[in-house]
Amino acid sequence: MICEVIVDIAHSEVDKIFDYVCDLPVQAGARVVVPFGRSAATGFVVRVKETSDYPAEKLKKIYRAEEGTPAVNAECLALAGAIARRYRVPLALCLRLFIPPEMRTGKVTETYRTFVRFVQDVPVKNAPQQAACLAFLRENKEADAALLRKRFGVAVNALVQKGALAAERRRVLRDPYQTVAGEGVRHALTAAQKRAVQAVGATDRTVTLLHGVTGSGKTEVYLTLIAEALERGRTAIFLVPEISLTPQMLSQLRARFGTQAAILHSGLSAGERFDEWQRLREGDARIAIGARSAVFAPVENVGIIVLDEEHDGSYSSESAPRYNTFDIALMRAEHNGCKLVLGSATPSVETYKRALDGEFSLVKLPDRINARPLPDVHIVDMRREVRRGNPSPFSAALRERLAATLAEGQQAILFLNRRGYSQTVLCRDCGYTAKCEQCDVSLTYHSEENCLKCHYCGARYKMLEACPACGGRHIYYAGTGTQRVVGELKKLYPAARILRMDNDTTSGKEGHLRILRQFSERQADILVGTQMVAKGHDFPLVTLVGILDADMSLHFPDYRSNERTFQLVTQVAGRSGRGSEKGDVVLQTYDPDNAILRFAAAYDYEGFYRHEVNMRAATMFPPFALIVRVMVSAADDKAALEALRGVYEKLQAVYARNMEEFLFFNRMHAPIRRIQGKYRYQVLMRLVSKKLLGDIYGIAAGEKHKDALVWVEENPSNLS
Ligand code: ADP
Ligand code: ZN
Repeated sequence: MICEVIVDIAHSEVDKIFDYVCDLPVQAGARVVVPFGRSAATGFVVRVKETSDYPAEKLKKIYRAEEGTPAVNAECLALAGAIARRYRVPLALCLRLFIPPEMRTGKVTETYRTFVRFVQDVPVKNAPQQAACLAFLRENKEADAALLRKRFGVAVNALVQKGALAAERRRVLRDPYQTVAGEGVRHALTAAQKRAVQAVGATDRTVTLLHGVTGSGKTEVYLTLIAEALERGRTAIFLVPEISLTPQMLSQLRARFGTQAAILHSGLSAGERFDEWQRLREGDARIAIGARSAVFAPVENVGIIVLDEEHDGSYSSESAPRYNTFDIALMRAEHNGCKLVLGSATPSVETYKRALDGEFSLVKLPDRINARPLPDVHIVDMRREVRRGNPSPFSAALRERLAATLAEGQQAILFLNRRGYSQTVLCRDCGYTAKCEQCDVSLTYHSEENCLKCHYCGARYKMLEACPACGGRHIYYAGTGTQRVVGELKKLYPAARILRMDNDTTSGKEGHLRILRQFSERQADILVGTQMVAKGHDFPLVTLVGILDADMSLHFPDYRSNERTFQLVTQVAGRSGRGSEKGDVVLQTYDPDNAILRFAAAYDYEGFYRHEVNMRAATMFPPFALIVRVMVSAADDKAALEALRGVYEKLQAVYARNMEEFLFFNRMHAPIRRIQGKYRYQVLMRLVSKKLLGDIYGIAAGEKHKDALVWVEENPSNLS
């Protein structure tokens, strides 16, 4: 038998496929160790065949297989090939997506423990410990050997020797969420939920968009669809933007599906992730739940794929291969002949258009469960606050409502999309602003550590005592961050218990969980945080949400900034009034007449959509055009420019031949010229169709510079 093996060498960007002779029973998708050059290398078997075009005596032999079951199943192998073709990236790179990173590096090991089980009674005269131990096992049948030895000492070994007990080493799996109790009542579906479940099954479209307002019970619809798939003997993939942010979802899944559900996410330890992955591959678990990488889960015979909060930016990968989770999910759904359900209260303009155009089926959940009203949104004009001499981040209206909420013993969430204390520090005398040495961005002051941090590369700098440019001592803290908000709140409400949730307070697997649990157990009155607080949380006691600076995301230099703002405001507002009390939202802005904020305050998704889609059509932005950015980055500015020149020339030739395809074509500095010490340039294009996409990917893939990186982004969610 001959195996085609793709050698998986770290850092190699080149596909190397070689024929090897094999007398082991390996299948395509298996990882094998093969002789390579003068040493050995690991590779994936991509195809098994009878004959090779090479003479038999020239072929080397596979040393061994890494695992018994192929690491990559047949469906995933096909998918890896499709991804490699679609994004013009090496197949080895795509195959890596399908196995836990720790499996490649060999850094995780399976854990084993010894168990002892009762076999038969034997005489144990004059050995009270043995008698006790034997009695214990006669009763309990089996126990962990280590625990047993703690209690009965060497009596355990003696009994094993006598043949009364049998010891056995067995693999144990780490359970990443032992501390998550499986709770959550199973609701009888409402009529609207039932209709939604049926509609997904009834349509002949593969994709259904479930457009349901916040609190409309979308989760219950997903869980029912997943349960139905399992009943049909199939598996399920459930994608969420950030699983660690939704402990409620976890406990619901636990309660409903027990160990059938496996959770894959980056916050787990390497060992835990590996074990969860193994449970899926071996069929012990049949539901894969996780962030975008869970779309590569090693399940077979998929019966349903759910992509919750489909509008979320985290679904596009920001490292090679830069895949879009929806595209992969769709490929898997088509391969398995199963449905793909997209859910959101605020679908992206592109998705909604595809639904209206009939490409996707559209199902709506227009009302909250139990007809609970959506909270009232009060728009507050912050310009007026400034004129009235109120310099604080809280308007009078917000302060008034906060005080009332605290007095009534209810909870509040304050949202501000900026962590740290102040956005930056600057010198009042000469205007100097502190910037990162490695990145073209200003530094953020963090009061707790009294340092300046770069939010792009994480570098830390000592806080300025005096201006390094002019020596002046009037350092000004410009722009408010979450730390400053907490400080101000403490001054205003000394008795209030305040939690802060942002990147600085949520490290580790349980970081988010701890804060969210404290808040849901009423150990705090106010939760201050970045967009993390906007995610699908369900806190029934929250009756006030304050959006401190609604304009921040509006002024992003990005065609999606309106859409983002609408989504963010709707999502965070949706955290209020989910319990029995009606909720309120205070939205602070310097632009109170802004159409997008008005639509968001009125929960008018349709109005927003029409406004936005008309604008995009008039200006020819996605979904009416495709933005493609070819990025070049290098530590050496000359190398970057050289690579840029290379790709630009080839792209220009394509442009010259197909002008009618282009709305825009130019090369320039990236908006942030340097990140982590690397210079960045871009060729920015706006195209009327996808026709030239393959050519562009080909040009980028063909531009080989040893010191520069070149990559392609489609409709990038971040244009920095
Ligand atoms: P969404 O994801 O649409 O924002 P959720 O799925 O979080 O909404 O549901 C909102 C609330 O309604 C949750 O507290 C959930 O437990 C509850 N809920 C969902 N379905 C039902 C139902 N059929 N009957 C009663 N309560 C329900
Ligand atoms: Zn930096």
